[in-house]
Amino acid sequence: MITKTPKKKRQQKQGMLDNVMRQFNHAADIIGLNANIRKILEVTNNELVVHFPVRMDNGEVEVFTGYRVQHNNALGPYKGGLRYHPTVDIDAARALAMWMTWKTSLAGLPYGGAKGGIQLLPSKYSQSELERITRRFTYALGDNIGPELDIPAPDVNTNPQVMAWILDTYMSTKSPNERSKNMHVVTGKPLGVGGSEGRDRATGFGVFLNIKFWAENKKVDLKGKKFIVQGFGNVGYWTAYFLEKEGAILTAVQDAFGSVYNEDGISVEKLLEYSQANKGSILGFADAQAIENKDFFGLDCDICVPAALGNQITAENASSIKAYLIAEGANGPTDVEAEKILLKKGIDIIPDILCNSGGVIGSYYEWLQNRNGEIWHLEEVMEKLEKKLRGSFSRVLKTSKERGVDMRSAAFIIAIERLEQAYEQRGIFP
Ligand code: NAD
Repeated sequence: MITKTPKKKRQQKQGMLDNVMRQFNHAADIIGLNANIRKILEVTNNELVVHFPVRMDNGEVEVFTGYRVQHNNALGPYKGGLRYHPTVDIDAARALAMWMTWKTSLAGLPYGGAKGGIQLLPSKYSQSELERITRRFTYALGDNIGPELDIPAPDVNTNPQVMAWILDTYMSTKSPNERSKNMHVVTGKPLGVGGSEGRDRATGFGVFLNIKFWAENKKVDLKGKKFIVQGFGNVGYWTAYFLEKEGAILTAVQDAFGSVYNEDGISVEKLLEYSQANKGSILGFADAQAIENKDFFGLDCDICVPAALGNQITAENASSIKAYLIAEGANGPTDVEAEKILLKKGIDIIPDILCNSGGVIGSYYEWLQNRNGEIWHLEEVMEKLEKKLRGSFSRVLKTSKERGVDMRSAAFIIAIERLEQAYEQRGIFP
């Protein structure tokens, strides 16, 4: 049966792939990327689509569609998250996998890029159904993932618990003396099963650090600055947590259920407590007023952190934005047309492949610990993360100044040049 995707959804999905390709081509043109290497990088290496049956709590069977797209592994094993969301499809997975390749390359990690997930709305399913869906998906992926081949991690609507189910299922398919060698098949695991200290906050901490480095460079004091956050999940919450600790004031939040606003400030911890007790929704939070979703991005503030889905800042709402800094916690939140408008208005954008790279760097530290049988302390992880991100931020800023380009183009240039060098040195088999 062929099902039709509603027009708006279709535009958003096509938009993500179109966006990442336009970003890539723009940077490739600036550096005059070797035409043969461009041909390799503009397509994905492998694309896996699996349909698998799962028994529901009521005894009925439902068939799900899962995806894993492996874009490139010239620098190391494929790496990237698994998303559980109705918008997951092959184009979304392709776009997000490509962003992962640029992100890991920019961060100087020994990884390539991948992404995947299942097209579903998790809130429709019980915890035990989600467990069976996850385990059966892992089984369907089989040896297309692996600790030295392709290493998934959490993304939208997946969390350490989901990673633990993947780990357990994957390890259960191995012979007993092989099992513990496979601990690093996923990252973002709970601490009790090989997770790393600090991985929970790594992405949000990284978004915060990038904002801090930007502020240091611009000689802006973050104390008292107002910020708004779209998405109050892993990335949105931890970003808000660290910004609030620095003295900045959270004035508005939007999540999948709606938007809330208080110009005098919203307590990050109180909002977290409320949403946890309210099935993950911020709606109805007593210390803020509900506002229309369409008014969110136009709110008066200094910093805007999109930390939910792709294509949220578009030509439709870009000109209403009042923030002077956009720090992209999400992947692909700003489309190319919106970016042109924002840059013209003099708004700075810390691009996703830099801004949210703390997550994959934290995942790399978890992978290294599992691989080497080590356990690092929280302070050690956070220090390493800060040092690495400072290096990335400085490189992007330097390239942006030297080339006279915006930060996204600079970040793409660094990422693509590293891949170009790898291909030039290795050559093409056979
Ligand atoms: P999450 O599932 O923990 O949280 C997602 C949040 O977004 C929730 O608050 C949800 O209500 C909200 N949301 C969903 N649909 C929305 C909509 N249409 N409008 C507004 N809000 C909406 O997910 P996460 O892990 O925090 O990921 C958020 C973004 O950050 C994604 O783009 C993801 O790819 C990116 N990212 C995540 C990580 C990570 O380590 N988790 C790393 C890098 C990038």
